[in-house]
Amino acid sequence: MNVSNDNTNIFQKAACSAAGVYVANKLPKFVRKNNPLIRPAINAMDSISVPKKQMDVFIHLMLNEPVLKKSNFKAVEVTSKNVNDLSMSFTEKLFKFPKNDKNLEKIRDIYQKKILKLFKLVEKGKNAFYSPIDNVAYYPKNKPFFLAHEIGHAINDNTAKASKIFIMSGRILPGIAMLAVPAIAIWQSFKNKNADDKTFLQKHAGKIVGAAFLPMLADEAAASMRAISTAKLVNFSKEALKNMKLGYGLAFATYVSFAVASGLSAALATKLFSKKVKE
Ligand SMILES: [Zn+2]
Repeated sequence: MNVSNDNTNIFQKAACSAAGVYVANKLPKFVRKNNPLIRPAINAMDSISVPKKQMDVFIHLMLNEPVLKKSNFKAVEVTSKNVNDLSMSFTEKLFKFPKNDKNLEKIRDIYQKKILKLFKLVEKGKNAFYSPIDNVAYYPKNKPFFLAHEIGHAINDNTAKASKIFIMSGRILPGIAMLAVPAIAIWQSFKNKNADDKTFLQKHAGKIVGAAFLPMLADEAAASMRAISTAKLVNFSKEALKNMKLGYGLAFATYVSFAVASGLSAALATKLFSKKVKE
């Protein structure tokens, strides 16, 4: 019967697309979490030795960038004392809905746990982040180069409207591409009559997902470049500059490998879960 055939087909399409999306997202996230370059990047940044006075001038100069002074930018150190409060207030800024809705509260609680995890990583010196939501850079104690990179993000973000659109696209494009590209490509594959009928998305899923990361990679590189050029301005030693470039370079490489892993996973997932048509 035609009707039941169609239903099976839709169920099949949805199941294959969902499985494809799962693979296309799970693999790169594993790579990102377990990236072997993270440790060397942190080590390189920890090994940079700069006299305290020079370091103070460096951070002072970055913080006093005119665009930041005009905005309400703040840099907040995350410590064991404030980590819980900070994650709570950040969650509240993120979810401004009424407090008495039970269902919404459940959603907020789920995110609250994730956000606390993120803040704990910062507290432990394993991460730092700039949040455009509150225009704050959250950074760990004794990690001035983490802070400098995040200030770089804040400067990029507060600089110009055009670049802001570019930066926002950098933050949301990869996630959208990782979901949408394999899902649509696999869905489309069910229309193929011949093996050669592959659609544009089916053929280029990996490249499109990889390309979606380009604005984000540009933003990451620009944030570090701002820190490096300020370091040159305050006459960091050659050795310090070399280690700074190494640390930021390795950190950048973790983003590049995430982009590559995402592209490869999207291509693989599309291939695995697309409908096979006999030659
Ligand atoms: Zn960054």
